[in-house]
Amino acid sequence: LLILDKLCVNFADKAVVQEVSFKLARGKTLAIVGESGSGKSLTALSILQLLPNGAHHPQGRIQFADINVLEQSDIDMQQLRGSRISMIFQEPMTSLNPLHTLGKQLAEVLWLHQGLTYQQAMPRMLELLELVGIQDAPRRLGHYPHELSGGQRQRVMIAMALANEPDLLIADEPTTALDVTIQKQILELLKDLQAKLGMAILLITHDLNIVRHYADQVVVMCQGQVVEQGTARDLFKQPQHEYTQCLLAAVP
Ligand code: ATP
Ligand code: MG
Repeated sequence: LLILDKLCVNFADKAVVQEVSFKLARGKTLAIVGESGSGKSLTALSILQLLPNGAHHPQGRIQFADINVLEQSDIDMQQLRGSRISMIFQEPMTSLNPLHTLGKQLAEVLWLHQGLTYQQAMPRMLELLELVGIQDAPRRLGHYPHELSGGQRQRVMIAMALANEPDLLIADEPTTALDVTIQKQILELLKDLQAKLGMAILLITHDLNIVRHYADQVVVMCQGQVVEQGTARDLFKQPQHEYTQCLLAAVP
Protein backbone atom coordinates (compact mmCIF):
# COMPACT_ATOMS: atom_id res chain seq x y z
CA LEU A 1 0.00 0.00 0.00
CA LEU A 2 2.77 2.41 1.00
CA ILE A 3 6.35 2.41 -0.23
CA LEU A 4 9.03 4.87 0.82
CA ASP A 5 12.11 4.75 -1.31
CA LYS A 6 15.14 6.73 -0.16
CA LEU A 7 13.12 9.55 1.32
CA CYS A 8 15.24 12.58 2.25
CA VAL A 9 14.15 15.73 4.07
CA ASN A 10 16.37 18.79 4.51
CA PHE A 11 16.12 22.00 6.51
CA ALA A 12 18.38 24.63 4.99
CA ASP A 13 21.68 22.73 5.00
CA LYS A 14 20.67 20.14 7.59
CA ALA A 15 19.65 16.62 6.50
CA VAL A 16 17.08 15.44 9.05
CA VAL A 17 15.74 12.42 7.16
CA GLN A 18 18.25 10.47 5.10
CA GLU A 19 17.37 7.75 2.60
CA VAL A 20 14.53 6.25 4.58
CA SER A 21 13.00 3.24 2.82
CA PHE A 22 10.27 0.83 3.92
CA LYS A 23 7.08 -0.87 2.76
CA LEU A 24 3.75 -1.16 4.53
CA ALA A 25 1.14 -3.64 3.31
CA ARG A 26 -2.64 -3.24 3.51
CA GLY A 27 -4.10 -4.12 6.90
CA LYS A 28 -0.70 -4.27 8.62
CA THR A 29 0.97 -2.14 11.27
CA LEU A 30 4.45 -0.74 10.84
CA ALA A 31 6.07 1.03 13.78
CA ILE A 32 8.77 3.67 13.50
CA VAL A 33 10.84 3.87 16.66
CA GLY A 34 13.81 5.97 17.65
CA GLU A 35 14.77 8.60 20.17
CA SER A 36 13.54 12.18 20.16
CA GLY A 37 14.73 14.11 17.11
CA SER A 38 15.48 11.04 15.01
CA GLY A 39 13.15 12.15 12.20
CA LYS A 40 10.08 10.01 12.87
CA SER A 41 7.51 12.79 12.68
CA LEU A 42 9.09 14.40 9.63
CA THR A 43 9.01 11.06 7.83
CA ALA A 44 5.29 10.76 8.60
CA LEU A 45 4.53 14.36 7.68
CA SER A 46 6.28 13.88 4.32
CA ILE A 47 3.71 11.26 3.40
CA LEU A 48 0.99 13.88 3.75
CA GLN A 49 3.17 16.72 2.48
CA LEU A 50 2.61 18.59 5.70
CA LEU A 51 6.22 19.44 6.48
CA PRO A 52 6.81 22.57 8.56
CA ASN A 53 7.95 25.83 6.98
CA GLY A 54 11.62 25.81 6.15
CA ALA A 55 11.76 22.20 5.04
CA HIS A 56 12.70 21.59 1.42
CA HIS A 57 10.43 19.47 -0.72
CA PRO A 58 11.39 15.87 0.10
CA GLN A 59 13.64 13.89 -2.23
CA GLY A 60 13.19 10.23 -3.09
CA ARG A 61 9.91 8.50 -3.76
CA ILE A 62 6.72 7.92 -1.79
CA GLN A 63 4.25 5.59 -3.46
CA PHE A 64 0.76 5.25 -1.98
CA ALA A 65 -1.32 2.66 -3.87
CA ASP A 66 -0.99 3.92 -7.45
CA ILE A 67 -0.15 7.48 -6.45
CA ASN A 68 3.31 9.02 -6.61
CA VAL A 69 2.81 11.26 -3.59
CA LEU A 70 5.70 13.69 -3.99
CA GLU A 71 4.55 14.62 -7.47
CA GLN A 72 0.99 15.49 -6.45
CA SER A 73 -0.24 19.08 -6.45
CA ASP A 74 -1.54 20.78 -3.28
CA ILE A 75 -5.11 20.22 -4.41
CA ASP A 76 -4.50 16.53 -5.03
CA MET A 77 -2.86 16.22 -1.62
CA GLN A 78 -5.86 17.84 0.08
CA GLN A 79 -8.04 15.31 -1.66
CA LEU A 80 -5.79 12.43 -0.62
CA ARG A 81 -5.58 13.59 3.01
CA GLY A 82 -9.30 13.83 3.16
CA SER A 83 -10.13 10.58 1.55
CA ARG A 84 -7.57 7.84 1.88
CA ILE A 85 -4.92 8.83 4.41
CA SER A 86 -5.64 10.14 7.91
CA MET A 87 -3.30 11.26 10.62
CA ILE A 88 -3.55 11.44 14.39
CA PHE A 89 -1.08 14.08 15.48
CA GLN A 90 1.33 13.99 18.37
CA GLU A 91 -0.53 16.66 20.36
CA PRO A 92 -4.35 16.29 20.53
CA MET A 93 -4.98 19.97 21.08
CA THR A 94 -3.39 20.86 17.75
CA SER A 95 -6.12 18.91 15.99
CA LEU A 96 -9.13 19.70 18.16
CA ASN A 97 -10.32 23.27 18.17
CA PRO A 98 -10.94 24.34 21.79
CA LEU A 99 -13.58 26.83 20.71
CA HIS A 100 -15.84 24.40 18.86
CA THR A 101 -18.04 21.58 20.09
CA LEU A 102 -17.22 18.03 19.14
CA GLY A 103 -20.34 17.94 17.01
CA LYS A 104 -19.26 20.96 15.02
CA GLN A 105 -15.77 19.55 14.46
CA LEU A 106 -16.92 16.11 13.44
CA ALA A 107 -19.60 17.58 11.22
CA GLU A 108 -16.98 19.76 9.55
CA VAL A 109 -14.91 16.72 8.62
CA LEU A 110 -17.95 14.96 7.20
CA TRP A 111 -19.03 18.08 5.33
CA LEU A 112 -15.58 18.59 3.88
CA HIS A 113 -15.02 15.04 2.73
CA GLN A 114 -18.47 13.70 2.10
CA GLY A 115 -20.59 16.79 1.62
CA LEU A 116 -22.96 15.90 4.45
CA THR A 117 -24.96 18.61 6.23
CA TYR A 118 -25.08 18.58 10.04
CA GLN A 119 -28.42 16.78 10.04
CA GLN A 120 -27.28 14.26 7.44
CA ALA A 121 -24.03 13.70 9.34
CA MET A 122 -25.75 13.08 12.68
CA PRO A 123 -26.15 9.28 12.46
CA ARG A 124 -22.58 8.91 11.25
CA MET A 125 -21.22 11.16 14.02
CA LEU A 126 -22.98 9.07 16.66
CA GLU A 127 -21.75 5.90 15.02
CA LEU A 128 -18.15 7.18 14.99
CA LEU A 129 -18.22 8.22 18.64
CA GLU A 130 -19.66 4.89 19.64
CA LEU A 131 -17.06 3.12 17.52
CA VAL A 132 -14.28 4.71 19.55
CA GLY A 133 -16.02 3.99 22.83
CA ILE A 134 -17.34 7.42 23.78
CA GLN A 135 -20.35 6.87 26.04
CA ASP A 136 -23.44 9.01 25.81
CA ALA A 137 -22.58 10.19 22.30
CA PRO A 138 -25.64 12.41 21.60
CA ARG A 139 -24.86 14.57 24.64
CA ARG A 140 -21.14 14.58 23.88
CA LEU A 141 -21.71 16.27 20.52
CA GLY A 142 -22.55 19.45 22.42
CA HIS A 143 -19.38 19.33 24.52
CA TYR A 144 -16.16 21.28 24.05
CA PRO A 145 -12.75 19.55 24.08
CA HIS A 146 -11.90 20.81 27.59
CA GLU A 147 -14.95 19.00 28.95
CA LEU A 148 -13.36 15.65 28.08
CA SER A 149 -10.52 13.76 29.70
CA GLY A 150 -7.25 13.32 27.81
CA GLY A 151 -8.18 9.76 26.89
CA GLN A 152 -11.57 10.82 25.60
CA ARG A 153 -10.02 13.59 23.54
CA GLN A 154 -7.70 11.06 22.00
CA ARG A 155 -10.68 8.88 21.15
CA VAL A 156 -12.42 11.79 19.48
CA MET A 157 -9.28 12.43 17.44
CA ILE A 158 -9.37 8.82 16.31
CA ALA A 159 -13.06 9.16 15.44
CA MET A 160 -12.23 12.20 13.31
CA ALA A 161 -9.37 10.38 11.63
CA LEU A 162 -11.66 7.47 10.82
CA ALA A 163 -14.52 9.59 9.51
CA ASN A 164 -13.33 9.17 5.94
CA GLU A 165 -12.61 5.45 6.24
CA PRO A 166 -8.94 5.78 5.32
CA ASP A 167 -6.81 3.02 3.82
CA LEU A 168 -3.87 4.32 5.84
CA LEU A 169 -3.89 5.75 9.34
CA ILE A 170 -0.76 7.54 10.50
CA ALA A 171 -0.60 7.77 14.28
CA ASP A 172 2.20 9.92 15.68
CA GLU A 173 2.69 9.04 19.36
CA PRO A 174 -1.07 8.63 19.75
CA THR A 175 -0.88 7.68 23.41
CA THR A 176 2.21 9.37 24.79
CA ALA A 177 0.28 11.90 26.84
CA LEU A 178 -1.97 9.27 28.40
CA ASP A 179 -1.67 7.06 31.43
CA VAL A 180 -0.89 3.41 30.96
CA THR A 181 -4.37 1.89 31.25
CA ILE A 182 -5.83 4.38 28.80
CA GLN A 183 -2.86 3.85 26.47
CA LYS A 184 -3.72 0.21 26.39
CA GLN A 185 -7.41 0.87 25.73
CA ILE A 186 -6.63 3.22 22.85
CA LEU A 187 -4.18 0.81 21.25
CA GLU A 188 -6.59 -2.11 21.63
CA LEU A 189 -9.21 0.10 20.04
CA LEU A 190 -6.95 0.84 17.08
CA LYS A 191 -6.23 -2.86 16.72
CA ASP A 192 -9.95 -3.71 16.75
CA LEU A 193 -10.74 -1.01 14.24
CA GLN A 194 -7.94 -2.23 12.05
CA ALA A 195 -9.37 -5.73 12.06
CA LYS A 196 -12.83 -4.35 11.31
CA LEU A 197 -11.89 -1.81 8.66
CA GLY A 198 -8.74 -3.36 7.21
CA MET A 199 -6.67 -0.20 7.27
CA ALA A 200 -2.90 -0.08 7.42
CA ILE A 201 -1.39 1.75 10.40
CA LEU A 202 1.87 3.64 10.50
CA LEU A 203 2.53 3.91 14.21
CA ILE A 204 5.15 6.28 15.52
CA THR A 205 6.27 5.67 19.05
CA HIS A 206 9.32 5.55 21.26
CA ASP A 207 7.70 2.89 23.45
CA LEU A 208 9.03 -0.54 22.57
CA ASN A 209 6.43 -2.30 24.67
CA ILE A 210 3.82 -0.88 22.35
CA VAL A 211 5.79 -2.08 19.35
CA ARG A 212 6.06 -5.56 20.77
CA HIS A 213 2.31 -5.88 21.18
CA TYR A 214 0.92 -4.01 18.23
CA ALA A 215 3.34 -3.87 15.30
CA ASP A 216 3.98 -6.37 12.52
CA GLN A 217 7.01 -4.56 11.12
CA VAL A 218 9.46 -2.20 12.78
CA VAL A 219 11.73 0.50 11.41
CA VAL A 220 14.37 1.79 13.80
CA MET A 221 15.55 5.35 13.14
CA CYS A 222 18.58 7.10 14.55
CA GLN A 223 19.65 10.61 13.56
CA GLY A 224 17.53 10.62 10.43
CA GLN A 225 18.59 7.23 9.18
CA VAL A 226 17.12 3.75 9.30
CA VAL A 227 19.58 1.62 11.23
CA GLU A 228 17.52 -1.56 11.24
CA GLN A 229 14.18 -2.91 10.08
CA GLY A 230 12.31 -6.18 10.07
CA THR A 231 9.47 -8.04 11.72
CA ALA A 232 8.73 -7.11 15.32
CA ARG A 233 9.36 -10.70 16.33
CA ASP A 234 12.87 -10.84 14.81
CA LEU A 235 13.79 -7.45 16.15
CA PHE A 236 12.95 -8.38 19.70
CA LYS A 237 14.54 -11.79 19.44
CA GLN A 238 17.72 -10.79 17.68
CA PRO A 239 18.39 -7.09 17.34
CA GLN A 240 21.25 -6.63 14.88
CA HIS A 241 22.25 -3.04 15.36
CA GLU A 242 23.95 -1.71 18.45
CA TYR A 243 21.48 1.16 18.68
CA THR A 244 18.52 -1.24 18.69
CA GLN A 245 20.21 -3.33 21.34
CA CYS A 246 20.57 -0.22 23.49
CA LEU A 247 16.92 0.69 22.98
CA LEU A 248 15.88 -2.82 23.96
CA ALA A 249 18.15 -2.88 26.98
CA ALA A 250 16.38 0.23 28.25
CA VAL A 251 12.95 -1.41 28.14
CA PRO A 252 11.68 -2.32 31.59
P1 ATP B 1 10.11 13.20 18.79
O1 ATP B 1 10.22 11.80 19.29
O2 ATP B 1 10.64 14.19 19.80
O3 ATP B 1 8.76 13.57 18.30
P2 ATP B 1 10.99 12.91 16.03
O4 ATP B 1 11.75 11.67 15.80
O5 ATP B 1 9.57 12.93 15.66
O6 ATP B 1 11.16 13.32 17.56
P3 ATP B 1 11.28 15.03 14.14
O7 ATP B 1 10.19 15.91 14.63
O8 ATP B 1 11.00 14.23 12.93
O9 ATP B 1 11.78 14.07 15.31
O10 ATP B 1 12.53 15.95 13.92
C1 ATP B 1 13.77 15.48 13.37
C2 ATP B 1 14.80 16.58 13.37
O11 ATP B 1 14.38 17.63 12.52
C3 ATP B 1 15.04 17.16 14.75
O12 ATP B 1 16.38 16.97 15.06
C4 ATP B 1 14.72 18.62 14.63
O13 ATP B 1 15.79 19.38 15.13
C5 ATP B 1 14.57 18.89 13.15
N1 ATP B 1 13.38 19.73 12.93
C6 ATP B 1 12.10 19.37 13.14
N2 ATP B 1 11.25 20.37 12.85
C7 ATP B 1 12.01 21.40 12.46
C8 ATP B 1 11.75 22.75 12.04
N3 ATP B 1 10.50 23.21 11.96
N4 ATP B 1 12.80 23.52 11.70
C9 ATP B 1 14.07 23.06 11.77
N5 ATP B 1 14.39 21.81 12.16
C10 ATP B 1 13.41 21.00 12.52
MG1 MG C 1 7.80 13.40 16.67
